Amino acid sequence: MNYTSLSKEELLKLREELNKEYSEAKAKGLNLDMSRGKPSATQLDVSLDILDAINSKSLLKSENGTDCRNYGVLDGIPEAKKLMADMIGTTPDHVIVYGNASLSIMYDQVSRAYTHGILGNTPWCKLDKIKFLCPAPGYDRHFAITERFGIEMITIPMSDKGPDMDLVEHYVNNDPTVKGIWCVPKYSNPQGYSYSDETVKRFANLKPAAPDFRIFWDNAYVIHHLYDDNQDEILEILSECEKAGNPDMVFEFASTSKVSFPGSGVAVFASSHANIEDVKKQLTIQTIGHDKLNQLRHVRYFKNLDGLKAHMRKHADMMRPKFEATLAVLEEELGDTGIGSWTKPHGGYFISFESLEGCAKDIVAKCKEAGVKLTNAGATFPYGSDPKDSNIRIAPSFPTPEEMAQAAKLFVLCVKLVSVEKLLE
Ligand code: PLP
Repeated sequence: MNYTSLSKEELLKLREELNKEYSEAKAKGLNLDMSRGKPSATQLDVSLDILDAINSKSLLKSENGTDCRNYGVLDGIPEAKKLMADMIGTTPDHVIVYGNASLSIMYDQVSRAYTHGILGNTPWCKLDKIKFLCPAPGYDRHFAITERFGIEMITIPMSDKGPDMDLVEHYVNNDPTVKGIWCVPKYSNPQGYSYSDETVKRFANLKPAAPDFRIFWDNAYVIHHLYDDNQDEILEILSECEKAGNPDMVFEFASTSKVSFPGSGVAVFASSHANIEDVKKQLTIQTIGHDKLNQLRHVRYFKNLDGLKAHMRKHADMMRPKFEATLAVLEEELGDTGIGSWTKPHGGYFISFESLEGCAKDIVAKCKEAGVKLTNAGATFPYGSDPKDSNIRIAPSFPTPEEMAQAAKLFVLCVKLVSVEKLLE
């Protein structure tokens, strides 16, 4: 039944039925959280042996003899550099292994550019205007960083091939106040889109008007596939930029937050040799070294890229049923209603839903009232403001598949109810 072709009488009747269903659903007293992309407890359980990978009896030296119990080693122990470089498809000379999370590296990179400048360029704080391009819907915490530094954010529309590259080229190649762009190139947050080869090549071949323009390439979901046989792969950005004569144009970030333990993983920064040296000079003022015991623990447990991939297959086995349960409810309940569309990702942590214009906030509020928490509507856009008020991020990872199906059923009910109200306006 396509809602958009119903008569007023039909809509009124439908609204009555839906209101009744909603009252019944509310009485169930649900308490479910689909708001943040957190691994479930069962996913964390399969990582527990990481904690046993080293103990007081272990040899706590890295492969080059460094005592991991002590101070030192700014850029990571060699075996951790190799593991993290392999994870993102580059080489150890291009990486710095950091501490427990990648978001703080991103913050640092913006902060340093702001206070001290990149590779000898004028610090951004001394310039009148700084702008960042923000492909959206995107990751709210990226936008929060640039907002905090007073950087003007320009929304760039996304497609299933990546950001609108005509617009990206237009801004980057002509406007010297455009200093960066936030990218989640693989299984993007929230749409689960992966950049096409053409998109990555067009990124690598940008001709920035600003010499200190950087692509902030957040490869957060680089090995986070849902399927064995249907995996997205993207071109490796550092080598593409090198080939295009733009070796310094990318800051890449990743971590094992959603591989091992969020908040207790290992994070990595990857870039050109010049950028790495520039960062290290400043990093040495900030720290004597990151947590090498955690680096050692991770390497001893995962051993190599195959170890990481095998581990991620276990996660996929737990995540897939939740995605499939959600998608099945969406398809069954909304498939031919014309009041919503959604993405069907092959990996990552999210499904992105598009409602009729002007409905997202009300849908999220209705869900909340009945005990299902969703990410705030608007959060996926710069300044927390979705111009069409239509995007909703669904995070299926945390609840069980059964809870997820329950939550999805309430969600589709709220979508129907709010859409009918809208159509009656
Ligand atoms: N980047 C993206 C795109 C994310 O979705 C997330 C977490 O949801 C993060 C970064 C956070 O990464 P970390 O835990 O390494 O700070």
